[in-house]
Amino acid sequence: MRAWEENIRKVIPYVPGEQPKQKNVIKLNTNENPYPPAPGVRRALLRFSDFSYDNLRKYPDPTADALVESIAGYYHLEKDQVFVGVGSDDVLAMAFLTFFNSSKPILFPDITYSFYDVWADLFHIPYERQPLDEKFRIVKSDYEKKNGGIIFPNPNAPTGILMELDEIEEIVKQNQDVIVIVDEAYIDFGGISALPLIEKYDNLLIVQTFSKSRSLAGMRVGYAMGNKTLIQYLNDVKYSFNSYTMNQIVLAAASEAVKDEAYFQGTRKKIIETRERVKKELKKLGFSFEDSMANFLFVTHEKYWARDIFEALKRSHIYVRYFNHPRIDNHLRISIGTDEEMDRLIAFLREYLEERKEQGKA
Ligand SMILES: *Cc1c(COP(=O)(O)O)cnc(C)c1O
Repeated sequence: MRAWEENIRKVIPYVPGEQPKQKNVIKLNTNENPYPPAPGVRRALLRFSDFSYDNLRKYPDPTADALVESIAGYYHLEKDQVFVGVGSDDVLAMAFLTFFNSSKPILFPDITYSFYDVWADLFHIPYERQPLDEKFRIVKSDYEKKNGGIIFPNPNAPTGILMELDEIEEIVKQNQDVIVIVDEAYIDFGGISALPLIEKYDNLLIVQTFSKSRSLAGMRVGYAMGNKTLIQYLNDVKYSFNSYTMNQIVLAAASEAVKDEAYFQGTRKKIIETRERVKKELKKLGFSFEDSMANFLFVTHEKYWARDIFEALKRSHIYVRYFNHPRIDNHLRISIGTDEEMDRLIAFLREYLEERKEQGKA
């Protein structure tokens, strides 16, 4: 090791799902929305290139006012209750940096979004993982011990399991001396948001994203909602880090995704319907899973190893997610695609399992 390496901040980075280069793959590995963004987004992009191209010389609005206003309007909040960032990953990283500054450990589930421990390590935030129960549910009483803050997704990822609102409220209520962050990346697929609780609890921050339910993973838009003091603290950290997080193109186009309510409801409904149908099909094939309220299913097979199924799927250009982590290394996370994509997945699995059965007999 060279002497200078000793002083380097070393991290084990988060590993995102694969983005295969080849076309014609069925991509069910990163929970992207299978449907395009709202048509208004496309119109705004065209308008931007026709009329505002020259503006790219200038810095964008550091307050991202147009986008903040659209989000605040949609959720009936004041503008000073909304913070926006480059995907919710950026928002969450800022929130870790801002709110988790105690010498006591922050708490989050042992099986959860695998970015949380990466940020905690990066920012030198102490943390303790709280084990999910044997059915992968969050155990509320684990979050009653002394801590420096709490974060969990609802529905949880990669399990898809939704926690009831009264249980979330109980956690927030028991922890009014610290900030509780609820990461609602998947809340639009059938869950009930804890957002109304921000009026009652000033220690609650809700984080959502345009990446999943609004089909804009490629644009990178996330946001946090909470009382204005929390948002002010977040903005102070953001302005101490990078003033211009949201670029002009995002500011011109992203708002359109919240304006087209009919389109949003339509795609949301389609994904939920497909998910419910796929649940039945996978059960018939011998897969089991806890009930998911997200745009993915987290499944295990009664007879065959998840890893083998994952490899076989990949060989036929169907990508799902496999995590080589303790407790979940016999599971697959399968994003909900279009009906046609899911039919092809199911057809493949049916044939694959049939073949394995034959091999077993031989
Ligand atoms: C996808 C995801 C995010 C982040 O998504 P962005 O694209 O950065 O908005 C955050 N939390 C969870 C649990 C997710 O699954």
